[in-house]
Amino acid sequence: MKPGPFDYARPATVERAAALLAGSGFAKLLSGGQSLGPMLNLRLARPDLLVDLTHIASLKEIRETKDFLEIGACVTHANIEDGLVPDCTNGMLPSVASNIAYRAVRNRGTIGGSLSHADPAADWVSTLTVLDAEIVIRGAKGQRRVPMANYMLGTFEVALEEGEFLEAVRVPRFSKSARWGYYKFCRKAGEFAEAIGAVVRDPERGVCRAVMGATHSTPILVADATALIGQGFDAAAAGALLDRHEITDAYERQLHVEALRRATVQAGA
Ligand SMILES: Cc1cc2nc3c(=O)[nH]c(=O)nc-3n(C[C@H](O)[C@H](O)[C@H](O)COP(=O)(O)OP(=O)(O)OC[C@H]3O[C@@H](n4cnc5c(N)ncnc54)[C@H](O)[C@@H]3O)c2cc1C
Repeated sequence: MKPGPFDYARPATVERAAALLAGSGFAKLLSGGQSLGPMLNLRLARPDLLVDLTHIASLKEIRETKDFLEIGACVTHANIEDGLVPDCTNGMLPSVASNIAYRAVRNRGTIGGSLSHADPAADWVSTLTVLDAEIVIRGAKGQRRVPMANYMLGTFEVALEEGEFLEAVRVPRFSKSARWGYYKFCRKAGEFAEAIGAVVRDPERGVCRAVMGATHSTPILVADATALIGQGFDAAAAGALLDRHEITDAYERQLHVEALRRATVQAGA
């Protein structure tokens, strides 16, 4: 199938993009097009206007402070995989990036597009949740910030108001001794995950976080995972978390628990 008709705009600044969104009927943002392209072709999305963000130079920029790294929304997975983005996570960001889909998808797919598409199985969704990243949102009235854990509201649903878009993500800087683990089960290499386990342990910053991702909705976050992984991995506690989130299928439960256990081992807990 082919997309329905739409107007196309290619703004050069975030202010112009926000103005275009504010002044339009049903607009969609275009970043890497890896998910939006098929949605347009299948007419699951029928926008009046497509606002292409990929010619806004500031959305491809990186900003570093002593506390965090800010990554522009249009930075691609391949940019992160290739080390063009400085790493503040002792290797976690490039490692996760290099295992998203396959290279052709990583060349075009962006961190902002992935987080805003909000597929529960997307790697950045789980990763930026366990990292306690902040999402920088741009709208006609300026910027606001929300924690990643509050950005994704559900499957394909994010906390953007009308006329807003994701401008950047802020990733807290790890201390030198911080450890992480990330494990995903996929049926085939390059496919979306069936279960993701992610762990960050950074005692110097007082951080011990764990995530079970690729659920049917938002990732299951344990913001203080000391009891869950602090003295080795507590499989019963992980099972209780799945109970609370009504994940009852035995196969799915086993994958989630095992993915988190392997991430915990990788993180040296
Ligand atoms: C074959 C295939 C396999 C894949 N496998 C994986 C995988 O294993 N793991 C994984 O994590 N991902 C996977 N993906 C997803 C891919 O990596 C992209 O991240 C994803 O498709 C969206 O990113 P994009 O930049 O292409 O966004 P687009 O397709 O351009 O946009 C996606 C959605 O987000 C909106 N949007 C885009 N940018 C913004 C923004 N800045 N602010 C607000 N809204 C915005 C769009 O309007 C659209 O609704 C796969 C994709 C394909 C096609």
